[in-house]
Amino acid sequence: MSLSLKACLLLQLILPISAVIQESFTALPKVSYDFVIVGGGTAGAVLANRLTENPRWNVLVLEAGPSNEGVLDSIVPNYSFNLQSTIYDWNYTSTPQPGLNNRRVAIPRGHILGGCSSINGMFYTRGSSDDYDRWAKVTGDDGQYNHTVHGRNGKTFVSLYSVPEALDAKIMEASKQLGGDFRYNIDTNSGDALGIGWLQVTVGNGERSSAATAYLAPEYLKRPNLHVLVKNRVTKVLQTTTNRGVPVVRTVQFSEGYTSTGAKYEVTAQKEVIMSAGSFGTPYILQLSGIGNAKELRAVGIHPIADLPSVGKNLTDQPQFTLIWPLGMNETQTFTPTAEHQAQWLAEWRANRTGPLTGVGVNSIAWIRIPDSSPIWQNHSDPAAGRKTPHLELPFIGGGLYPLPGRIMGTNNVVAEPHSRGSISLNSKDPFDPPLIDMGILTHPYDLLALKEGISAIRKFLAASTFAEWNLSLAYPFKDDSTDEEIEQAIRNVAASNVHPVGTAAMSPKEADYGVVDPDLRVKKVAGLRIVDASVMPFITCSHTQAAVYAIAERASDMIAASWR
Ligand SMILES: Cc1cc2nc3c(=O)[nH]c(=O)nc-3n(C[C@H](O)[C@H](O)[C@H](O)COP(=O)(O)OP(=O)(O)OC[C@H]3O[C@@H](n4cnc5c(N)ncnc54)[C@H](O)[C@@H]3O)c2cc1C
Repeated sequence: MSLSLKACLLLQLILPISAVIQESFTALPKVSYDFVIVGGGTAGAVLANRLTENPRWNVLVLEAGPSNEGVLDSIVPNYSFNLQSTIYDWNYTSTPQPGLNNRRVAIPRGHILGGCSSINGMFYTRGSSDDYDRWAKVTGDDGQYNHTVHGRNGKTFVSLYSVPEALDAKIMEASKQLGGDFRYNIDTNSGDALGIGWLQVTVGNGERSSAATAYLAPEYLKRPNLHVLVKNRVTKVLQTTTNRGVPVVRTVQFSEGYTSTGAKYEVTAQKEVIMSAGSFGTPYILQLSGIGNAKELRAVGIHPIADLPSVGKNLTDQPQFTLIWPLGMNETQTFTPTAEHQAQWLAEWRANRTGPLTGVGVNSIAWIRIPDSSPIWQNHSDPAAGRKTPHLELPFIGGGLYPLPGRIMGTNNVVAEPHSRGSISLNSKDPFDPPLIDMGILTHPYDLLALKEGISAIRKFLAASTFAEWNLSLAYPFKDDSTDEEIEQAIRNVAASNVHPVGTAAMSPKEADYGVVDPDLRVKKVAGLRIVDASVMPFITCSHTQAAVYAIAERASDMIAASWR
């Protein structure tokens, strides 16, 4: 036997055998896992990749949804909305929302490898440097890093919008005419988010770039120490042992398939269990496991193992609604796509990964502060992290095909950093019974007033002379001449979640008796358990949230690796 063959065989004994995405635990090699990651979503995929850079560490990822591979709607950027209300969505619905005239609202969440990054709108917006400085301040964490630069070697693709529209020129012209709050900002991802800028998106080579396509790409799935199990739902984390009176939680219980009838398994991590099940999944599993508000857990028949009242509280999301203006122009002056266009576009995308289907529907966004002179500040504190932080996000929606504008134009009106808070709690102790999700939308009066400030800002912007030739008149959700009361009611009747829930397992200083994790993301009052996902954000960023989740997961990977070196 040659020396190299001997070395190969020896290596096979030391290292685990080849791994691919599996759907049954019994198909996985019988190895012990150093880390078990609960949820193969945005953060979970990053951790899986980064922790398996060390070939000695075996990592198991447990994902409830199916694989993302070959899911066309998750690959074609313009098809992302098709994924909602399907098997790729958890299909959550909120409790009746008092701030929304008691309506329930849908809250989509990715139920697929890559999690929300496989079904989201691909907007790549980081928020302001104030946002991250505020996190450091409230957690007593004073690390130093320069987050204002774009790297060149990251795994996720980020690109500029790809489908020019007639609306683009109008927006840039209005920005030039008006300046001030609407000034052009060459890169709203630089830390100073204010002004109007071009949208950056997680699209590369005409396809969605998700945590799954980037961090769980075939080259990484080949790693023999990476094990990915899809279509397996984690039902609880269990106390493994006790160390000096502290419960050690390193065992995970899970169920195969999508229903409660699947085969049940348990697996124990040698080093750590990392919860990356997202802002709903993580606090839901913690509570099912007896980690949460002890009184509330007992009320549903769960024996508490750690009394952490902040679990599931502080649920923060941005309220939003869309305004729509038909263009006062005839059909030949505007563009409406037909089924024939759609078929041509798909053919072009299939052939070259180019054309209208590579766009996400928005090319530019205005990030605006409510004026210091506004009466809103007489009664309400400022929820923004600092002066480089917008209060409002106004993304522009065109829908035409250059050079023709669409029949309508739209603007989203989003409160970037709201005051309202909601919660997620258990309906029962059955892990297949959906949680009670109270988004708390518009329960704080500031948020409704801020949306009305957004309407004023949009009106000011559309008063720029460049829009005159379009003869815009507001058609939805109220009219140009609606009364204040009609406007408020219309907002409450249409506003919804911006699908960016965060904060349900928030970071706080190490010694604080509130919060769920310390600044190293270790769950308080237990050992062996960390949380790495959007739930740890103590405050929402003034942005879409995936960039912040990628940053948290990259940083956490370094911290976890360093603590086991
Ligand atoms: C429709 C939509 C559009 C969005 N658009 C944008 C956008 O354009 N730009 C942007 O920046 N952000 C956007 N977001 C938000 C952003 O994608 C999320 O904030 C971010 O991806 C969340 O990452 P996460 O790791 O916290 O959770 P997720 O990515 O949701 O990952 C959680 C994972 O855990 C799995 N999981 C949950 N429970 C269990 C369980 N019991 N057992 C096993 N696995 C479980 C889930 O299936 C999921 O894969 C959007 C979100 C949605 C839903």
